[in-house]
Order: sequence, then structure tokens, then C-alpha cells
Amino acid sequence: MKVGVLGAGQLGRMLALAGYPLGLKFLFLDPTPDAPAGQVAEQIVAPWDDPKALDALAHTDVVSYEFESVPDIAARTLAERVPVWPPPASLAVAQDRLREKEAFRELGIATAPFAAVDSEAELARAVSEIGTPAVLKTRRLGYDGKGQYVLRSAADVPKAWAAIGGVPLLLEGFVSFSRELSVLGVRGQDGRTAFYPLVENEHERGILRISRAPAPSTEPKLQARAETMSRSLLEYLGHVGVLALELFDVNGELYANEIAPRVHNSGHWTIEGARTSQFENHLRAISGLPLGDTSALGPAAMVNLLGEVPSPARLLALPDVHLHDYGKQPRPDRKVGHVTLRAPDFATLDARIADVQALLAAKNT
Ligand code: AMP
Repeated sequence: MKVGVLGAGQLGRMLALAGYPLGLKFLFLDPTPDAPAGQVAEQIVAPWDDPKALDALAHTDVVSYEFESVPDIAARTLAERVPVWPPPASLAVAQDRLREKEAFRELGIATAPFAAVDSEAELARAVSEIGTPAVLKTRRLGYDGKGQYVLRSAADVPKAWAAIGGVPLLLEGFVSFSRELSVLGVRGQDGRTAFYPLVENEHERGILRISRAPAPSTEPKLQARAETMSRSLLEYLGHVGVLALELFDVNGELYANEIAPRVHNSGHWTIEGARTSQFENHLRAISGLPLGDTSALGPAAMVNLLGEVPSPARLLALPDVHLHDYGKQPRPDRKVGHVTLRAPDFATLDARIADVQALLAAKNT
């Protein structure tokens, strides 16, 4: 079976590495030469809408995508010729923050108050309705906190509009969360679902730095609520594959922030930390195979490597540390790899995270 994938970044690379033991072959499409997945599998270097490239993908057995800025049209064109999972509907909803929030509302999933904004006057009106602080976001193509502006008061309207106005926007009430969580759900072609344990995520300047799994100090009822939210989204979208749902935990109440219709950075720990990795389960789902056990093997953490990969010799000298180098050129703040850490308990895990961070900080001085 050959899997076609739109996008050949690190998520694609990890999909390929998880798929080879299952006997799967891959064909990636990405305009960037020597992309991370292209270093381990066949890659067509061409624009997303290149007819020859799309024709080659249409000759695979199933097509998926590994980042959501893939033009919706490429996925929809392919879907006329070959099964595309997750379905283009999932992509369309995830690409537009307004549709995403409307889906949450329709499904009764709590989320911050929001309003669409297309002019400075609409922004002023939305700020008076929603109040401040509030976050102004681009509706499309925002990632890692890019295309966002936090308004502290109504007086910030002109500044916020000058910073990111001119494109379709969304204003959201600011959620004073106690922590950020995410839940990864997976749905098979037979409609069966499975869920990974909640993950606790630490961001810095909008970029994911550390995930801890299963999220420490989490009551089973929080996990159950997150699963209910994820299940209703999976079913609403007719989703097949992995779906990530980012959540704010406000003193035990969950608010949905956004979805990603794909494998997700906050699920990388599953490669060494869960019985079946998110990458394997995504592939099992899209190729019609039974889903694997999503339970954690014990406390695990994922630390993103930003900018450049430190010396493997020093990292791997630490106990139960696993390195993933994405094969990317170094660049400030670029996600170039990650490490997974495991430990028998959370206190030891935190000590090991501190050791990795000390090593990373030493590298940067
Ligand atoms: P996003 O691109 O929507 O995932 O936002 C990036 C990060 O900005 C999130 O992980 C949060 O830390 C923060 N953020 C986004 N939206 C809100 C909000 N409505 N209230 C508070 N923080 C937010």
C-alpha cells in the first residue's frame, strides 16, 4: 500500500518512519527541496497545485496531509480520485478560525467568546462586546502564535488594526487559563475512536516548548470531558485519522482553543511513551487497519529543540532520553528536532527535563 502525503516536514518524516514497519510506502509532495520527509522517502518537489504532481499522488492508495496550510483545493481535487483522509472537511474547518469556533459552539463545546472582524469599526464593536483583554487573530494561516495581537484595552484598537488588520480576523476573549492541555483523538474508517491521555503543554513566545504526558494531577473526569469533546468533533467532521484538540484548563473547566486535523507536536511523546504512537495510529486509521492501544507506558515528556540540534553525544548520555533530529538547517526558533524523556515518576521526569534544559541553555551561551 502506498500513502501519498501533502507536505514533507517533520510530521511527514515521522509518519514514514512509523509506516515502514507496517509495510507501507510513501510519496510526499512539498515545494521545499530536501524536506525532512524527502530525506527518508520519495518526494516530489513541486507547487501544491502542480497537475503532474497531483496526478502522481492520485495514483497512490490513500492520501493524507501533514500540515493544514495545504490549499484546500489540492485536497478536494485529489478527493475526487483517491480516498483523502482526514476528509477535506476537516481541513476546511481547521484552516478557518471562525468556522472552527462555530463548530465548537454548534457542538456545545465551551470556547472563549468570539466575533468575526473585517474592519476597524467592527473591531471596535467586537471589543466593546467581548471586553478586554482580548486576542485578535488572523482567521487563516496563523501558527505558533503568529498573526496575533493582545488588546489590553479599547484604546489598543488602532494599534491592533495597524498590526494585523486588512485580512479576515477573529477577536477572542482572553482566557486566563491555569494551564494548557491537548487531547489527541483518532478515528478509524469503521468509526471506532481512541484517545490518548491529556497532555500538558508549556509554550514560550507562542511556540510549544515542553509537553508532559499524561498531564500531571489530572482527574479522570477531566480526561472523560476532553474525550467527549474530541469524539463529538471527530464524528461531526467524519474525521478519519488523528485529530488534535488544544484546550485551556481554567480551574478544572475545559475551553477549546483550536484543532489540528493531523498528527501534532504535543503527541510526539507517544513514539516512545505510548503503546502505539500517534503516527502509527494515524496510518492505521487512514489505511483501514484496526487502531492500536493509546495508553501511556508511564510518565513521559517531550522537549522541542529550537534553532539547532545540540550534541547527540551529550544528550544521549542522559538516562532514557531519545533524540529525533528532523534533518533541517539551523535557524533561530525553528523546530529542528525533539527529545522524548521517560521516568518512573513525575519528580524524576522533572529533574530529567531540567537536565535537558541545562544542556540546551549551555549550548546557547
Ligand atoms: P493559537 O495559535 O491559537 O494556538 O495560540 C497560540 C497561543 O497563544 C496559545 O497556545 C495560548 O498560549 C495563547 N492564546 C491563544 N488564544 C488565547 C486566548 N483566547 N486567551 C489566552 N491565551 C490565548
